[in-house]
Amino acid sequence: MPELPEITVLARQMNKELQGKQVANSESEQPKNLNMPVANFAKTIKGKTITNVSSKGKWIFTKLDPDYYLLINLGMNGDVLYFAADKKPPEKYHFKLTFTDKTGFTVAFQWIGLVHLVAEKDLDKHKLTAKLGIQPTDKNFTLNHFRRLLANRKTIVKNFLLDQKNIAGIGNVYIQDTLFRARLHPNRKINTLAPQEIEALYHAIKDTLNHAIKLGGLVYEKDFYGKHGRFTADSFLVGYKTGKPCPNCKTPIQKIRTGTTASYICPKDQKAP
Ligand SMILES: [Zn+2]
Repeated sequence: MPELPEITVLARQMNKELQGKQVANSESEQPKNLNMPVANFAKTIKGKTITNVSSKGKWIFTKLDPDYYLLINLGMNGDVLYFAADKKPPEKYHFKLTFTDKTGFTVAFQWIGLVHLVAEKDLDKHKLTAKLGIQPTDKNFTLNHFRRLLANRKTIVKNFLLDQKNIAGIGNVYIQDTLFRARLHPNRKINTLAPQEIEALYHAIKDTLNHAIKLGGLVYEKDFYGKHGRFTADSFLVGYKTGKPCPNCKTPIQKIRTGTTASYICPKDQKAP
């Protein structure tokens, strides 16, 4: 599943490649991905120019001139793939955007994804993105900011971090090593964390995500040019490594059930509450 690192890599590449390109047409093979009828969508986006591509959490924000945003969420899994003017576009896709210079990109979803076209003035009313929390890669995500986010919270730490309204971009993949790096059991309650544990968690979030961004994201995911990331199964510290030795103390890593999801922990370094 693409999380913040994969989406960050994708959005950075799109930003470099697509700035200044003008939309010639759009095609949708799966109208339920869109937030308006296909014909409306095509009419609205035609002729607009891409000025910037960024991301927040698991969403890609493509700024269009004049005054619109194209918002893409890959859901459980999907690819956004560039095609050059002289290359055949990928055959299977759910959404395709072609530019006036004959280049373009396709979006294919494994399950269900979203392609929304939103007027700039309505962006803060777009329910799915308006309430997203801060990104851990944002320069405003400081230790003090993080402490304020955690103040007076009684939820368990794993649920808190997975809730996109608190922090945008951490999912079930990267949370495993994040909690291990901070030596925290997923079921610890926020209000039981000591100041130094909060500081460790803050650095663990940033270190885990930045490391994955540096490696271009997960090997299972593709970037804008179809290249796989270099974050492999071996790159995890404890995530998905049941029975393998903890990199810190050699205790076998355990897979445990936390709520509705699985967690991978070192039972010695991440003591149960
Ligand atoms: Zn250990």
